[in-house]
Amino acid sequence: MSTKQVEMVLAPKQPHFVGDGFRVHNFIPSGYGLTMERMDPFIMLDYASRYHFPPTGKPKGVGVHPHRGFETVTIAYKGSVAHHDSAGGGGEIKEGDVQWMTAASGVLHKEYHAESFCATGGDFQMVQLWVNLPAKDKMSIPKYQAIENSHIPKIKVDGGIVEVIAGSYQNQQGAASTFTPVNMLNAKLASGGSATFSFPSNHNTCILVIEGEVILNDTEDVPLDHLALFKNEGESFTIKATQQSIVLILSGEPINEPIAAHGPFVMNTREQIMEAFQDYELGKFGELAD
Ligand code: MN
Repeated sequence: MSTKQVEMVLAPKQPHFVGDGFRVHNFIPSGYGLTMERMDPFIMLDYASRYHFPPTGKPKGVGVHPHRGFETVTIAYKGSVAHHDSAGGGGEIKEGDVQWMTAASGVLHKEYHAESFCATGGDFQMVQLWVNLPAKDKMSIPKYQAIENSHIPKIKVDGGIVEVIAGSYQNQQGAASTFTPVNMLNAKLASGGSATFSFPSNHNTCILVIEGEVILNDTEDVPLDHLALFKNEGESFTIKATQQSIVLILSGEPINEPIAAHGPFVMNTREQIMEAFQDYELGKFGELAD
């Protein structure tokens, strides 16, 4: 097996607010060449780096909006979020939990800081990903996977653990079901801890340093809040923590179908995007109160 080499290490861009509750750095698809096509099936990655919110009686967040054609995945590292969607999915995602919503044919949803979090205020840190769906599944029935941290398999490695959110690690299957081959892992390592990962060479692969600082393949330093993109050659790489660290690892088989994207809709053709806007205006995405 040959080494998967690092293509580039990227600093977080200037943050912007999504609604009034999510202060995010966009990594995919707005810049650095991390287009939807390059990173497919990971077609959007917003990173809310650690940020302190004071207590408030009025929850901050994002109001009702639609999605069609993909899945949204929220990983909570600090703080908690309350979610509701028009397909009946909902709940609170707390520190360590993951929410995997399959928008598919279309849902309305809203996301706000949980009331318990608003009461005390505190540090907030999350990743939101959009995972693309193949053409044959874009109009399938919406579904919702609420994945509590206690249900995420944890594999012991040298000086830490690897959480298997989706895909597999050392033959352990992840907690989430996916439509195409996707690996989504959290490496939680003490200073000096390390882990090795291996994915097919054609998988689009990147890591994001959520806490601490790591060295890839004993050569590439990746500081806090930075993303490292791998080349699509070679299979395996190592992560070594130079301090206590948390690293999100993403690897997915490209779907390699045409992508037509506009706002909250990601389909295959321009016509399907027009249809999504029409269906939304006709109320076909269901109902959800503000
Ligand atoms: Mn959304």
